[in-house]
Amino acid sequence: MSTNNSHRIAITGRVILPDRILEDGVVECLGDRIVRVAKGRASRNANVVINAGSGYISPGFIDIHVHGGDGADYMDGTVAAVQTANRAHLRRGTTTLFPTTTTGSREEISRMITACAQVSKRWKPSDGARIAGVHLYGPYFAAGKVGCHSLDGRREPSPNEYDTYFSSGIVRIATCAAELPGASEFYRSARRRRCLITCGHSDASWPEMDAAYKVGMRHVDHFWCAMSSVASVRARLGTPMRGSMEQFVLAHDEMSTEVIADGQHLSPELLSFAWKIKGANRLCLVTDANRALGMPPGRYRFGPADTGTWFESDGKVGFVRGSGLASSVVGLDTMVRVMKRDTPAPLEQIIRMASLTPAERAGVAGSLGSLEAEKRADVLILDKDLNVQRVFVNGLSID
Ligand SMILES: [Zn+2]
Ligand SMILES: [Zn+2]
Repeated sequence: MSTNNSHRIAITGRVILPDRILEDGVVECLGDRIVRVAKGRASRNANVVINAGSGYISPGFIDIHVHGGDGADYMDGTVAAVQTANRAHLRRGTTTLFPTTTTGSREEISRMITACAQVSKRWKPSDGARIAGVHLYGPYFAAGKVGCHSLDGRREPSPNEYDTYFSSGIVRIATCAAELPGASEFYRSARRRRCLITCGHSDASWPEMDAAYKVGMRHVDHFWCAMSSVASVRARLGTPMRGSMEQFVLAHDEMSTEVIADGQHLSPELLSFAWKIKGANRLCLVTDANRALGMPPGRYRFGPADTGTWFESDGKVGFVRGSGLASSVVGLDTMVRVMKRDTPAPLEQIIRMASLTPAERAGVAGSLGSLEAEKRADVLILDKDLNVQRVFVNGLSID
């Protein structure tokens, strides 16, 4: 970690803006802020000039759905586990993230939120990626859609429980399956806290999604994974066949969603379809990465260190033998490269889906998510194949 905090750093080269690539541009940072993004050369008063060469200058990535890395799951509930996971993601270009709860007991979820709040309060770049909020994800899932989460740790929303989580002040994203009793009340409480409200691990029908939309639900977790389809809603509610989460998201411009673009969860045509239909302003790239990221192939627990469910990692993806995938084991840098390889989306839109779009949806775009003067100096240098070469967070270079 270098300490060039008081210096004016200029990075020259191809700059990835939200809507285009600026050739022969420069991004200048002073302290923890970006102060200038322009065409042309570095200012004369720059102390350090770095050339991105044949690569790119990109905003730091933002991950709104992430469980852990380097052996740690946020649900381990310790400061050390949170920092370990945050460092693993920072090295892969994620400068801001929202640690995401799994299903678990009240105590386990409270411990996770407390540990994240402690790290966030005293955060410095050597602690890893910045925490912009917690994503309260588990435990309010549909019983038939828990996926790799522990079924024992799932339950229906009760105000007495979630009010405790919300009163921490750090929950910025809030998930609940729309068909659960008490879902509307949960969404209303989350809306009062100005959270991004999402429906996930759900078998909701169109009318249930519509009711949720009316009280503020605007996002669906990992599209096509652990969500309803016309066929699943028919199995639950019979005929006539009804719309599902899929149709609802595709039909409503205000609804956003996310894809796990690790090349293992979704095929190229599904990634291209999601981008084409929702567009870069409503589609986020997320890792949904678990603790096996950065670890050798083997058996790991998803969620809390001693109560989480077991899954296997082959180094490419997490899975439960005979049942299905168990989230990803790679960083957002991989997701960006897979989108480039597997879809026709232009690079500036791919980077937007990994930075400004998640920032906008989570309500932090005022200071994060793009290379713009006055925003935080979270800057990546990528090589021409989109591998992360250097990471600056708050203006500090991670060596
Ligand atoms: Zn999930
Ligand atoms: Zn997840």
